[in-house]
Amino acid sequence: MQDQKTVVVIGSGIVGLSCAFFARRAGYRVRVIDPNINDRRASFGNAGILAVCETLPLANPALLRQLPSLLLSRDSPLHVRWRYLPALAPWLVQFARSSARGPSLRSALALNSILQTALDAHAELATACSAVEFLAPTGWIKAYQSEEAFGSQSAERAALADWGVAMQSLSRADVNELAPGFEGVFAKATLFPDCQQVKNPGRYIARIQGACVEHGVEFIEDTVRHFHFADDRVTRVQATERVIEGDIFVIACGAWSKRLAADIGERVPLDTERGYHVMLDTRNRMLLRSPLFWHEKSVVFSQLDYGLRMTSSVEFAGLNAPPRYQNIDRTLSVIKGIAPALAELPVESRWLGFRPSMPDSVPVIGRSAHQPNCFLAFGHGHLGLTLGPQTGRLIAQAIRGARTDIDLAPFSSSRFASRSSSDATVV
Ligand SMILES: Cc1cc2nc3c(=O)[nH]c(=O)nc-3n(C[C@H](O)[C@H](O)[C@H](O)COP(=O)(O)OP(=O)(O)OC[C@H]3O[C@@H](n4cnc5c(N)ncnc54)[C@H](O)[C@@H]3O)c2cc1C
Repeated sequence: MQDQKTVVVIGSGIVGLSCAFFARRAGYRVRVIDPNINDRRASFGNAGILAVCETLPLANPALLRQLPSLLLSRDSPLHVRWRYLPALAPWLVQFARSSARGPSLRSALALNSILQTALDAHAELATACSAVEFLAPTGWIKAYQSEEAFGSQSAERAALADWGVAMQSLSRADVNELAPGFEGVFAKATLFPDCQQVKNPGRYIARIQGACVEHGVEFIEDTVRHFHFADDRVTRVQATERVIEGDIFVIACGAWSKRLAADIGERVPLDTERGYHVMLDTRNRMLLRSPLFWHEKSVVFSQLDYGLRMTSSVEFAGLNAPPRYQNIDRTLSVIKGIAPALAELPVESRWLGFRPSMPDSVPVIGRSAHQPNCFLAFGHGHLGLTLGPQTGRLIAQAIRGARTDIDLAPFSSSRFASRSSSDATVV
């Protein structure tokens, strides 16, 4: 047992909790600091999909070509608050570079390596935390209103097939069966049968937190402001209300990680892709057996154990701008006109969350190059729920100095510094 050493985890979303759980299991004393322990930001409000099929990064040559029209069109799934553009510019530059063929392929390789073991890590964590009841082998569906739209995605399907991703084509009748609340809407779909669903992400992570407490993890409600150093090492963190000592520190505060990472010398191009959800009261009706991406509307529907959740795509406006619910409201009202079964469902709540996004779609996982007793675990973008437990397992292995399940070099924070700008010419 390593009880003499204390690991301080900053952030208690799915990533921080997973780091805490696996570090505790490895024998360390563990403290978790978060000002919002019962309101875990992105990890609460996501669509709940364990999307292990998503090997292709968002930063890819095809999306880069579409970016100008996506940024300018009013009906686009991508919204930018123009005032935020100067702050976003460095991220966009890195996104453009990462979208070239070579870097995009490297990102796919990295994602593929970590996605292979993501479900196994969920199973291990959920079993140990008595949270298995929240995991459902639903698969996930990408659905298309027209055959043409389905055909337009054939290159993506071919690329996924090359990566070994399992897929099944669904006819109109097949989709109707899996998505009874959307009967008649979709002409065609692809089912990714290996994906799973977390039926209630908020309760799932609350259960993991409860298990951490049972295993002796200490939770401290506070906000970390900066690090203290002695002899060139981090020795404690300064939080708003107190100073917290530790031997090893893990930065796992999602979209808020950039400033703390900078405090230890890590310059990471992290930004946030904001995303919204609305919860619809289904009145106990089964409308959807598998979570579903509606291609034409660029929204995801997910039937949770307490209602139907619709999540939107992406808004760039930083961490401080107030929510703007009008885009998701407008999309929902158009959808209610197309899918009559949804028309009568009342909206229960609306929510804004912050995806912690790296421009190459690959999270930062591993030991800091600047502070050897600090570890980085953030930037999981659209896949943080999927990858949180595996990230925690990897961080615990890295802290122990053990061989990690996968090579962490592609997840290093310094990968942007070492990338040549000539990569950008191969688009
Ligand atoms: C609309 C939407 C849908 C999504 N759907 C999916 C999906 O279906 N599948 C999937 O895999 N992923 C999905 N995601 C992404 C996923 O939710 C995130 O990637 C993931 O939750 C990030 O987890 P995290 O622990 O890194 O961050 P968070 O859950 O945001 O947690 C970070 C924590 O750090 C704390 N913190 C911040 N600053 C400090 C500080 N200074 N000191 C202490 N604590 C601090 C915060 O209070 C917060 O609790 C979705 C995201 C959104 C927004």
